[in-house]
Amino acid sequence: MSLIQKAKENHQLSSSEIVKLLSSDQHNEELFSAAHEVRVKYSGEEVHLKGLLEFSNLCKQHCFYCGLRAENRQLKRYKLSPIEVLDFAQKAISYGYHTIVMQSGENESYRLEELCEMISSIRQMGASVTLSLGEKRYEEYEAYKRAGADRYLLRIETTDSRLYAKLHPKMSHSNRFQCLRWLQEIGFETGSGSLIGLPHQSLDSIANDLLFFQESDFDMVGIGPFIPNPETPLANSKGGDFILARKVMALLRLLMPYINIPATTAMETLHPLGRTLALESGANVVMPVITEGEYRALYKLYPGKVCINDTPAHCRHCITSKITALGQPISSSRGDSRRFIIRQQA
Ligand code: SAM
Ligand code: SF4
Repeated sequence: MSLIQKAKENHQLSSSEIVKLLSSDQHNEELFSAAHEVRVKYSGEEVHLKGLLEFSNLCKQHCFYCGLRAENRQLKRYKLSPIEVLDFAQKAISYGYHTIVMQSGENESYRLEELCEMISSIRQMGASVTLSLGEKRYEEYEAYKRAGADRYLLRIETTDSRLYAKLHPKMSHSNRFQCLRWLQEIGFETGSGSLIGLPHQSLDSIANDLLFFQESDFDMVGIGPFIPNPETPLANSKGGDFILARKVMALLRLLMPYINIPATTAMETLHPLGRTLALESGANVVMPVITEGEYRALYKLYPGKVCINDTPAHCRHCITSKITALGQPISSSRGDSRRFIIRQQA
């Protein structure tokens, strides 16, 4: 039996088996279709659409790859008022979104009470709330949960501690692991993820990332190719490869059949059909941006971000047609991962 067939049945691969599959492109089509079959069998045919509200690009951190890093003085900074946040969320809900993903740079410019009020107001509008605000204190995570937040996304970025230290000056890898453990302990539907194509990142290290996600039993995992930003210290790096990122995502699906996996915007930036191809190789979530106006362009992690001149209404319509053309229905549920639902029922 081939390695792919084996993983399709028992959802196990060793580190060396993962590296072997990543090293050769000979079995890519078999891998992509196996990942799609596993996703349909265990997580269903439906695609969850979640509205991504990029509500502030202020950031105190220094991640070498990211355009929002504090040292990037070229970027015009913004912070939406709570009224704007609720207005954009309300409109997104009226377009049919059941989840609002509140994402920002890591900053303390909103008071805890302000954030909690925004979370509970969005919940009262009938949507579930996912947060992606970076590393916070335990008490803050607890307060968000009490306010009604359902989910939290915090990518580990890489599990390779030496690589992490090189790319994240003044940050602590162990604190990032700690935050992920806290989020799980508090009861969030917890998501993590990694970047593919970071400088000096080896296939062994990518294999370790995948095994870490599986061992940690996350509910959601996002895999994104690294795209170099000219306004960062990694301006001259090569960047991630679309095929490699797609393969990592497909392997993730074989290892974690019940989780939610987004078809990331970074995939679409590298390939015009990036999200569509991702939905045919293991992904089951898309997160179109629901922020309006100039803010869409100002949340500039990397160049070439897609859809910056579109309106949220147009994006919703466009992505729906693309997904429907694949024969995949759009979900009308809250969008919890099957893994989370199973855990809640246990
Ligand atoms: N500040 C929060 C955090 O870091 O967790 C959330 C927002 S941050 C912009 C969301 C994700 O963007 C990061 O986890 C990182 O993986 C991704 N990202 C940042 N710069 C990127 C780049 N140049 N290419 C691809 N993805 C990038
Ligand atoms: Fe800030 Fe997140 Fe970008 Fe790091 S990845 S610089 S924490 S916005």
